Amino acid sequence: MLGLMQEWPLVCHKIIDFAARQHPHREVVSRSIEGPITRTTYAGIHANSKKIAQLLTREGYKPGDRIATLAWNTGRHLEAWFGIMGMGGVYHTLNPRLFPEQIAWIMNHATDRAIFTDLTFMPLVEKLAPAVESLRKVIVMTDAAHMPETALTNVVAYEEWLKEADGDFEWADVGEDAACGMCYTSGTTGDPKGVLYSHRSNVLHAMMACMPDAMGIGAKDVILPVVPMFHANAWGLGQSSPMIGAKMVMPGGKMDGQSIYELLDTEKVTFTAAVPTVWLMLLQYLELTGNKLPYLNKVVIGGAACPRAITEKFEKDYGVEVIHAWGMTEMSPLGSLCTMKPEYADRTGDALLDIKQKQGPAPFGVEMKITDDDDNELPWDGKTFGRLKVRGPAVASSYYGGDGADHFDSHGWFDTGDVAHIDEFGYMQITDRSKDVIKSGGEWISSIDLENLAVGHPDVAEAAVIGLPHDKWGERPLLVIVAKEGCSPSRDGVLGFMDGKVAKWWMPDDVAFVDEIPHTATGKIKKTALREQFAHYRFPG
Ligand code: AMP
Repeated sequence: MLGLMQEWPLVCHKIIDFAARQHPHREVVSRSIEGPITRTTYAGIHANSKKIAQLLTREGYKPGDRIATLAWNTGRHLEAWFGIMGMGGVYHTLNPRLFPEQIAWIMNHATDRAIFTDLTFMPLVEKLAPAVESLRKVIVMTDAAHMPETALTNVVAYEEWLKEADGDFEWADVGEDAACGMCYTSGTTGDPKGVLYSHRSNVLHAMMACMPDAMGIGAKDVILPVVPMFHANAWGLGQSSPMIGAKMVMPGGKMDGQSIYELLDTEKVTFTAAVPTVWLMLLQYLELTGNKLPYLNKVVIGGAACPRAITEKFEKDYGVEVIHAWGMTEMSPLGSLCTMKPEYADRTGDALLDIKQKQGPAPFGVEMKITDDDDNELPWDGKTFGRLKVRGPAVASSYYGGDGADHFDSHGWFDTGDVAHIDEFGYMQITDRSKDVIKSGGEWISSIDLENLAVGHPDVAEAAVIGLPHDKWGERPLLVIVAKEGCSPSRDGVLGFMDGKVAKWWMPDDVAFVDEIPHTATGKIKKTALREQFAHYRFPG
């Protein structure tokens, strides 16, 4: 028997319809690429996204077409997303931090037909356009006055282009399972792989993100997504914020400590989200200036393990609640958020910081398990670690074009490539990437645990641990260190500091000092490059 309820497809344009109807005057503030702070509202975003959908349709773009965006977080980028989705298209976010050849490869793989770009990236687009045969149009998100000279053909200034439409347009009649967004993984091994979001997955993911024990956001919040829209959908904030009618503050291209502080302060931001490196810059700036964060309530930190010192500073010095989160492009991206269940609610001080080192429990909509290499499920005891596998309505079921099929099994589980343990209350903690875990004498050593420990040394700025071949044990850990400016820690000093804090057999066999540790385009330590750099290294003895 079927239920007798209405068919109301979970499509993304309903989100912006809702925001424009229920929260029309709520502001979306942007640090524009041209310089000044600009202001629009959800009513304004809605009106422009209708125009974009109308223009794209008029110009022959069809549902399912991939339309690229190469842009910072701004109100214009947001209305481009809703316009593209509203005509049935697929917004395809490109990460400008990749090499041009890689971006061109991704655009060709996705067969992008048009591109919305910021002024910042015009030189890059000029390089990309001739290499992408499918590309028909470039829309530069600026006005006529700021339009640069270009040799490219079929280029328009966004604001001028919008004048050609009246916005009288019915959203495309697409089903909730239709594709609406696309993002490629950063591809640290092999070619990048395309993740294709659906309207339904985006809507459900946005609802999941808002829940009280997830991000816990509402209409009274002022939300600053520092995490870029081009990196894993700005963690869904482009959809969750209009869904709850929260004011948005968009940082544009400036993510240094001072610029972020200015927005936090002048716009009275209550909620923000970014990777740890952004927060390091902000905290340094605050320390230098003595400024405080009187309005900020919560900061979500993820994309890489959040160092304990960052959590401690935010919570103790500035009274800001830290939510440590984990996720992946393939998961839309949220997978877990470390908020406190009643079982941990009485923790304070160091005991609370211990819990916040974990990436936390999965919200409703994410199923998790850990397994050994033979897919046997492992216990949730907070110690035993194994391959982390997930499934849910906002988790990829395959990659675009069928690439990387070995990541998915026949029961719908996606192998995240992360290694983790989960405690009795469901709190997950990442201990490694499966390709980075060090396999010593048949047992696993967590490189992340060793790195976290090493950065606790007062003279260490950054640490990376890699497994290198060893005659007896198969692999042993090498600790690679960047010293803090003006400091010169010694090998024995660092190892002595770590001694006793991990099992003896986990201790690195040696320490190498370098000026710089290589990073990927999304800010993660590039262990493949580091392993190449130390390919000829031999352990002492
Ligand atoms: P991306 O798809 O670029 O967002 O990368 C996803 C990967 O980043 C995950 O599979 C993890 O390896 C890593 N990651 C994300 N968040 C965290 C976190 N809080 N702690 C440790 N690793 C993380």
